[in-house]
Amino acid sequence: MPEGDTIFRAARTLDRALAGKTVVLFESMLPALDRLEVTGRTIDRVSTAGKHLLMHFSGDLVLRTHMRMNGSWHIYRRGEKWQRPRRDMRVVIATEEFEAVGFSIPDAELIAARDLRRHDDLRKLGPDLLASTFDGEEALRRLRERGETAISDALLNQRIVAGIGNVYKSEVLFLCRVNPFTAVQALDPAQLESIVETARRLLRVNVSEGLAPMTTYTGFRRTTRRDDPTQRLWVYGRARQPCRRCGTPISLSKQGSDARLTYWCGACQKLQP
Ligand SMILES: [Zn+2]
Repeated sequence: MPEGDTIFRAARTLDRALAGKTVVLFESMLPALDRLEVTGRTIDRVSTAGKHLLMHFSGDLVLRTHMRMNGSWHIYRRGEKWQRPRRDMRVVIATEEFEAVGFSIPDAELIAARDLRRHDDLRKLGPDLLASTFDGEEALRRLRERGETAISDALLNQRIVAGIGNVYKSEVLFLCRVNPFTAVQALDPAQLESIVETARRLLRVNVSEGLAPMTTYTGFRRTTRRDDPTQRLWVYGRARQPCRRCGTPISLSKQGSDARLTYWCGACQKLQP
């Protein structure tokens, strides 16, 4: 499941390349996107709402996409070779200069901009960690409403707070020294507050310029190769490797049908009685 900052970065890249430009070609493999003419419209801007990417066109039209597990947006110069096979293409939006290609996107629709606010998925989103208007109190209130839920599940629930995926879930709970399987109601207000604040801080740092994507751990030695994303994380993707704080091997649990992965250190993140 992609994280909110990944979608935010994708939207920013698309916005920089496409905003103010005219669509000269629109092609889609998704029948849902066939019913309206997009060619000839101007791309006003590209934004996000939680993990939804919203491409706003002139004439009150928005393309909403959600990446789910495997979707991604790429941007290419016209004629440049794609990095994924053509069969994975779901939608192409071309301007004179660029081609935005949505690969393996399972969830996409064209909707009138005026209907966005009433859109079921968007309306039910919790406070967006990356929004400038983020409402921390509301996020905490929604968390407390799910008292019996394990904190690791609550953080993935986009209706409680929007933007966290598997990676930040594990990283945030490690940084806050909270066991992922603790029920929300067993956490005190200060702990919940620090979880929400840490999540917001990590996501915001990761949409600032100049940092490799998805970095929570920067204690690496100068000589360490940084290409490997797990070199930049505390626990995620590090099962059985020593905890960076205490040396205990990192634990891994896979839950649920969508194989939600949880990484944690059993010593630094003891289950509270
Ligand atoms: Zn540890």
